[in-house]
Amino acid sequence: MERTPTARAEGCPVVIIGGGPAGLFCALQAAGAGRRVVVLEKNASCGRKLLITGTGQCNLTNTGDISEFLVHYGDHGPFLRHALRGFTNRDLRAFLSEQGLATTAEPGGKVFPASRKAQDVLSLLLSACSKRGVAVRCSEPVQSVASTGEGFVVTTERAVYHAACCVVATGGVSYPATGSTGDGYAFARVLGHAVTDVAPALAAVTVADFPYADCAGISFENLQVSLYRGGKKIRQQSGDLLFTHHGLSGPAVLHLSRFTRAGDVLAVSFLPGRDPQQLDRELTGTIAAHGQRLVRALLLDYTLPERFVRRLLDVAGIPADQTGAHLSREKRSAIIANLTGHAFTVKEVAGFDRAMVTAGGVALEAINPKTMESRQVPGLFFVGEVLDIDGDTGGYNLQAAFSTAAAAARRIRAICSGQGHGTLG
Ligand SMILES: Cc1cc2nc3c(=O)[nH]c(=O)nc-3n(C[C@H](O)[C@H](O)[C@H](O)COP(=O)(O)OP(=O)(O)OC[C@H]3O[C@@H](n4cnc5c(N)ncnc54)[C@H](O)[C@@H]3O)c2cc1C
Repeated sequence: MERTPTARAEGCPVVIIGGGPAGLFCALQAAGAGRRVVVLEKNASCGRKLLITGTGQCNLTNTGDISEFLVHYGDHGPFLRHALRGFTNRDLRAFLSEQGLATTAEPGGKVFPASRKAQDVLSLLLSACSKRGVAVRCSEPVQSVASTGEGFVVTTERAVYHAACCVVATGGVSYPATGSTGDGYAFARVLGHAVTDVAPALAAVTVADFPYADCAGISFENLQVSLYRGGKKIRQQSGDLLFTHHGLSGPAVLHLSRFTRAGDVLAVSFLPGRDPQQLDRELTGTIAAHGQRLVRALLLDYTLPERFVRRLLDVAGIPADQTGAHLSREKRSAIIANLTGHAFTVKEVAGFDRAMVTAGGVALEAINPKTMESRQVPGLFFVGEVLDIDGDTGGYNLQAAFSTAAAAARRIRAICSGQGHGTLG
């Protein structure tokens, strides 16, 4: 296909690579005052991943104080301090509300569009881009980006774009079917940026010989999960837990997944706050007073799901009609051990095809945290998940995408209005 120049460096053209939430939000914030902003998206439509967020309901952000956000990005929270303060969760909700999209918060703090439709968020972003004159070009995968020293040459199959500013918003490598296939890492490397090792994060784990496959779908609220490697406890996480057909998922496990490796052990306390000795005293006391009650009934007093209790007894080799009085000390100990620290050996952590986000990415050392601009190549920006940032579940990843995009857009506006040169920080 013939390549035709479609944009020239005069008039401060801005090319944004990737039409996900970070790219679209950066585009609409950078547009205006005659700036020519173009978004190049490889898919036939933008925001494919955005549409599947929060199982299609889109958990946009969280209500927590912005200072509390920083602990939700592993060791890289401090990098986001400026971006999150510059465009907060409140700013995001206010922006959406101004554009006509109401949001609603769950008691735990997760924020969703009131309609519970990710499609509404995407439509809003596209409509705001259109109103502000952003050109969104789909089915136009970027093949290469080069720096000329004075700007950028961005090449697609159809055209060559000349830009004063170039924003890489290509996402990570998880759920590659949505378009995030790691192209941004290659662009970063060519432009002299280091990329840290990438790994699946927010991923479910497969458990070796998982005994609760027939309990798939059962969820538990606010349990405690500890991660052990070589017999040593290395992390602990509280949160909800979900049994799947092959192992464990739910926020507690997803959050630990960025640290979890095959062969590690996840110890789940189904009765958080109770240690084995305390539970032993309680059960012994109840059995002494009500020896004819079924063991199953004694355990249901702890408001555990019935299907789980039946399977737990099965796993311990205790018949369903066993009474407390006939429960041996050995079997009682087995139940107590599994309720206070059930050990699950990790067979594997789900791969990029099923991980919600990517850990690792464009190394943060060479990025200005106030602007997301490259410290090495003026006018080059990285926003969203392409950066070496991954957040917990709860809306933290989308908030990071919007906040980093807003930071870059601020700087682009300054560069384009002639105030920005020589202040790379
Ligand atoms: C199943 C699932 C559920 C999730 N739920 C939530 C949630 O509820 N809340 C939350 O906060 N986060 C959630 N996330 C994470 C969140 O979706 C991402 O962190 C977020 O989409 C990142 O935005 P982004 O714009 O940086 O990247 P992406 O959304 O990945 O967008 C990148 C875009 O760049 C395009 N692109 C890539 N390469 C090129 C190229 N060479 N040329 C042109 N275009 C290119 C891609 O096609 C894509 O459209 C979820 C993720 C998944 C997979």
